[in-house]
Amino acid sequence: MDDRLYRNVMGSFATGVTVITTKVADVVHGMTANAFMSVSLNPKLIAVSIGANAKMHHHIKYSKKFAINILSSNQLKESKQFSGQLQSETEITFVNYNGLPILEDTLAVVTCELHSEYVVGDHTIFIGQVTGAKIEQKDPLLFSQGKYRELKELQI
Ligand code: FAD
Repeated sequence: MDDRLYRNVMGSFATGVTVITTKVADVVHGMTANAFMSVSLNPKLIAVSIGANAKMHHHIKYSKKFAINILSSNQLKESKQFSGQLQSETEITFVNYNGLPILEDTLAVVTCELHSEYVVGDHTIFIGQVTGAKIEQKDPLLFSQGKYRELKELQI
């Protein structure tokens, strides 16, 4: 199968955008990720899939806790910064929530302790046990077909 075709097919599945944040030895790390999902309601578990080459892979293994910042539609710049797509990066302000650094102005946040991890091909699926969650009245940032997009409500 052609790799480009496969990536295009997978990229046609529209998602929200998150930034995973954690702290190791008092240094805050962040990484943009859209391979995020809710796994279980009781107990409350979520999953993120992180590439073996991403530094975040090691940060989570070490810190054993992380936050999922669900980005709002005005956080395109944050998504680009935490995926290494900006030429000149700006200093980001983090605030503390449940003992973890989180971004300001997000749509929602979920904090987790590392529950388990599964190496699957060239990624590791990290399962997080949810320790906290909060949400604001904002629209989500979306990602589909390699482009950032905004939500549009459809009516019949
Ligand atoms: P780094 O390369 O260390 O960090 C990434 C960037 O964040 C760097 O530019 C760094 O300067 C900046 N940064 C980190 N910490 C801070 C800080 N404290 N203050 C300011 N800036 C900071 N990859 C996956 O594995 N899984 C996914 O689900 C996934 N989804 C993605 C979705 C989208 C929409 C995009 C654009 C990319 C996605 N990626 C995903 C790719 C991933 O975001 C990049 O490969 C990323 O660069 C890997 O980061 P890293 O952990 O190696 O950390």
